[in-house]
Amino acid sequence: MGESYEKLWGEGLKLLRVLTEAGYEAYLVGGCVRDRLIGRPLHDIDIATSALPGAVQALFPRTVPTGLQHGTVTVMIDGTPFEVTTYRTETGYSDARRPDEVSFVSDVREDLSRRDFTFNAMAVGLDGELLDPFGGREDLSAGIVRTVGRAAERFGEDALRMLRAIRFGAEFGFELAADTWDGIASQKQRLAHVAMERVGAEWDKMMSGQGPDQACAWLRDSGLLAYTKEPLPVRAAKWTSSDAETAIRLSVIEDIDARWAAYWICAGASEAEAAASCKALRMSGKRGARIAGVVGFERRLTENGASRRLAARNLNGVCDRETWIEAVLDYGVAAAEDWLAIMEAARGDKIGCAERHWLDGMPITRISELAVRGDELAKALGKPPGPWVARRLRRLLSEVAHGRLANAKDALLKAVSILQSEDNGT
Ligand code: ATP
Ligand code: MG
Repeated sequence: MGESYEKLWGEGLKLLRVLTEAGYEAYLVGGCVRDRLIGRPLHDIDIATSALPGAVQALFPRTVPTGLQHGTVTVMIDGTPFEVTTYRTETGYSDARRPDEVSFVSDVREDLSRRDFTFNAMAVGLDGELLDPFGGREDLSAGIVRTVGRAAERFGEDALRMLRAIRFGAEFGFELAADTWDGIASQKQRLAHVAMERVGAEWDKMMSGQGPDQACAWLRDSGLLAYTKEPLPVRAAKWTSSDAETAIRLSVIEDIDARWAAYWICAGASEAEAAASCKALRMSGKRGARIAGVVGFERRLTENGASRRLAARNLNGVCDRETWIEAVLDYGVAAAEDWLAIMEAARGDKIGCAERHWLDGMPITRISELAVRGDELAKALGKPPGPWVARRLRRLLSEVAHGRLANAKDALLKAVSILQSEDNGT
């Protein structure tokens, strides 16, 4: 653990000292305690205290009223935020997502009992003592995700916890306790109460984490994906990374959006289904376009029946050079690069495959790189500009990209009149 790690933890302890010296109880709680015990990097520190929000605000010079009604004040120390939350319990959960009411309590153990998993329900005090009323430490060393209390009840209160169970399990390489898994099975329909944005954010964290393959396998096997608030394409749940020949492990793909693209490809989704899914999961338009673009690119390569499933494919000779170049022109170099990254990750090396050489050998890949502009072309042919110009340019692009025509203005203008007469002016 590095210096900044110890510094952050030390700052947290200083905060506890201020609260304690003012006569309140205070503990480091939740994720930071868990992460310290398993030696993971800390990203933030949460503190639970008996002090009411007003008292916390009065004790520290720089605070932000993050969620006063829920008891949370953010204390800023040297530009680092610390979330300080008054001990509380939650009741009501009539919408299967958020408590109807939170009440402040005086016993830290009550606060710990509202938390989702045993390893998230531990606290450390100033003296370094560990409060662990639900056996979180034991579950951490055994590698088990277990809810505090009966899983069916806890997932019934807040359906988001089902996704969190899968996320933590996959991230840490843990098993789900039998009761926790059964709880998901019995409560999965309640996922419909969770905003799509939250589903997207949780799934995205799973995808970018250490165990995306396990996470996706659990999402599929649990049946959860059939119960999202907005429907995902049926294929979303059909994802499979492996078959007799090869496997594409998402975890070996570096880029997160390339992982997503590989997910939809392996799920058998079409470009439109991938795009609709990204949208339903509230990804940005930019990310959705990129992910769906790679899926479209892959479908384009294999649409002439050349396709065996991506995961099973011999990585050389997916398609012919002609098809490859046209797909690059239609979907762009970025999609081709993402596709190659997926392939290279699947194969475990970067030794050039045929497609890589074809891509590198393309003299140009975009209309804007052509040595002739649309207006020049219209003028040379003596016709008024119109949609036909873009079609002509696209045709010239093909010729140049395939290496059949030099990218020089004279050659291009000459070729375009020949194409013009060939195509009968279309
Ligand atoms: P990470 O930030 O690494 O995802 P974390 O455990 O810090 O993990 P947060 O979402 O930051 O997770 O929540 C902080 C703590 O609040 C958790 O450790 C847990 O004790 C509690 N908590 C968060 N979300 C829930 C929930 N939906 N139900 C019950 N307790 C929760
Ligand atoms: Mg956290």
